[in-house]
Amino acid sequence: MPKRPTIIKVAMPVPLDRLFDYRLPADLPIPDIGARVSAQFGSRRMTGVVLALAENSELPASKLKNLVAVIDTTAVLPTSLLELLRWTAGYYHYPVGEVLAAALPATLRSGKPAEIETTVSWRLTEPGRGSDPQQLKRAPVQQQLLQQLQESGEILNREQLEELSANWRNAMRGLVDKGLVEELRETVKPKPAGEPVGGPTLNPEQAAAAESINAANGYQAFLLSGVTGSGKTEVYPAAIDRQLAAGKQVLMLVPEIGLTPQLVARLQQRIAQPVLALHSGLSDGQRHNAWLQAATGEPLVVLGTRSAIFTPLPRLGLVIVDEEHDRSFKQQDGFRYHARDIAVMRASRERVPVVLGSATPSLESMHNVASGNYSLLDLTIRAGGAQLPRIGLIDMKQHSVHDGLSPPLVTAIGERLDRGEQSLLFLNRRGYAPVIMCRDCGWIQHCPRCDAHMIMHRQKNLSRCHHCGSETPLPTACPGCESTNLKPVGEGTERVEQALAKLFPAARIDRIDRDTTARKGALEQKLKAIHDHQVDIVVGTQMLSKGHDFPMITLVGVLNADQGLYGVDFRGPEHLIQQVMQVSGRAGRAEHEGEVLIQTWHPQHPVFQALMTHDYGQFVEAALHERQAAGFPPYTNFVLLRAESTAPVKALAFLDQVAKIGTGLAAQYKGVQIFDAISAPMEKRAGRYRAQLLVSANGRGLLHQLLNHWLPRIENLPDARKVRWSVDVDPVDMY
Ligand SMILES: [Zn+2]
Ligand SMILES: [Zn+2]
Repeated sequence: MPKRPTIIKVAMPVPLDRLFDYRLPADLPIPDIGARVSAQFGSRRMTGVVLALAENSELPASKLKNLVAVIDTTAVLPTSLLELLRWTAGYYHYPVGEVLAAALPATLRSGKPAEIETTVSWRLTEPGRGSDPQQLKRAPVQQQLLQQLQESGEILNREQLEELSANWRNAMRGLVDKGLVEELRETVKPKPAGEPVGGPTLNPEQAAAAESINAANGYQAFLLSGVTGSGKTEVYPAAIDRQLAAGKQVLMLVPEIGLTPQLVARLQQRIAQPVLALHSGLSDGQRHNAWLQAATGEPLVVLGTRSAIFTPLPRLGLVIVDEEHDRSFKQQDGFRYHARDIAVMRASRERVPVVLGSATPSLESMHNVASGNYSLLDLTIRAGGAQLPRIGLIDMKQHSVHDGLSPPLVTAIGERLDRGEQSLLFLNRRGYAPVIMCRDCGWIQHCPRCDAHMIMHRQKNLSRCHHCGSETPLPTACPGCESTNLKPVGEGTERVEQALAKLFPAARIDRIDRDTTARKGALEQKLKAIHDHQVDIVVGTQMLSKGHDFPMITLVGVLNADQGLYGVDFRGPEHLIQQVMQVSGRAGRAEHEGEVLIQTWHPQHPVFQALMTHDYGQFVEAALHERQAAGFPPYTNFVLLRAESTAPVKALAFLDQVAKIGTGLAAQYKGVQIFDAISAPMEKRAGRYRAQLLVSANGRGLLHQLLNHWLPRIENLPDARKVRWSVDVDPVDMY
């Protein structure tokens, strides 16, 4: 008989990248690898995940603590997922305990049992209905709850009780013991509401794409690309159905667009098995149940945003990443993983096909097609035979522009109004004006905590910093010269909306941006109004660019298209063309031909030339060529080390030391280049001074070897505790 292991090696949710040894007391069961345990860490009790069992520890016996409890005897994280998470921790150089914690729902992190929770509510019994609450005056919480039950229609659920009293649990138990209240339990599992409805018949291209995916044997990566309106989303149900019919599970990732519930509902109509949503809008309890239901291995679809990539799916058969180019797949703080990249890795490790879909694929994915790693499934036919919209450029140098609107664009909007059609104006800037300036002395209102201007929000009567959220009342006089001659410079969505109202007083105008859709349900309501043609002109930010089709919009105006074209981000042009193509795709479906008018100061830029001819491929080819010449990803691999500090210069000085150590080590790693530490493009943000250090390499292997040597040395620098620093592997945001 094998000896009982006495040492449990645990990944704890702490920022230290190693495992911790605990002694397994004889009275505790032996946990599986992947099970949760409760252990004392310093002064706190925490939930960790078992990663190994051993007979001995390298630590002296006096340093070993006993495990407090074994929460699960069987693994909550199936082996395949656990291995993926360990790989992920290594790849992103992030502490394994924190990576595992990020994969678990909050309920399981806090040590709750890994069981699907039943919904519980409490109901008055017959005696309870007739009982006088006054009799309970020695138990005031019981008295309060009984009274509330009698007043509120006899049933209360957990959420309602939470609001009534923090001590409701004990009191409710007391009422149940007295026979005044009874508990109602039901297991609620999401189930399809009815029979699935069939989708449209696939055209030959779509059918061939679905067939290729279904024919994949083991791992294969597909890039499903195609002009907007080519019906790429019709291919998904066909591929999903095949997997579910074979008893498999499907993971589908979508960008964070606040519309996941609608996507779930739409997919559920087509599919006979459950479609589980996993996104940030869920309550802890909902997430808990969905996660555990997926872990059972029953055939179902998990549809979720970024973090859904870590859902346990023991019978995974297919992974889909829709809108794979979207930036929201990359987490921008803490554990900076890229869900699309992990999706490909997960599919490869679990030997299942993966489909990346986009009308405007990322250069990384296009490069993978060119180098033979991905198979391209290209859809070229627009559904219903609709034409691609006509694209026109408005050269801003030739026009006098008021409130961001050029005369040709205003004329085009007027024509749509006359014909009873809708227009959409796209401007990626919220608020009224991005700058508030004194006309007499040139003073500009800056954020006190950031290297940034304050944005004027006229309706709310305040200025706000979009980087840190600082707010002040709108200035009435210049603090420099006391002049009251203050002027808003430039325009945001709010200003354009007002200007349109003046130009077209009879038109129904609506605005869609973060300010107007903060309230729950507001976005859905506004989208419905556009659909129902209760709106003539829509002004909005990139919130409008994804996921919605508006058949009656025949004009899309792109204001201020040059944003990001000449910025510090080498991906600027890529994001610009993706955004404009996505928003252009909203224009004109079926019988209505669409037109897109782009206002630009640089009509000769290759991005606009490619847009004119709808030739994304041409743009990609040129852009990849440029990236290769410049030594940028996807031809090289980037890692960005960042540091920030409340004191100026400290972060930069720290990264100087880091660079020095790295340069010493890099001599052994040919093809790795360590640049100079520099201040971040926006050095001060939210009161902290930021610096960054770029590392580029010709091969991932070498880069990770270097980091494995380098990072422990950085951790040991005395200054490493005085600044906040982080590692960003494959950074998407360069500042
Ligand atoms: Zn002034
Ligand atoms: Zn700020």
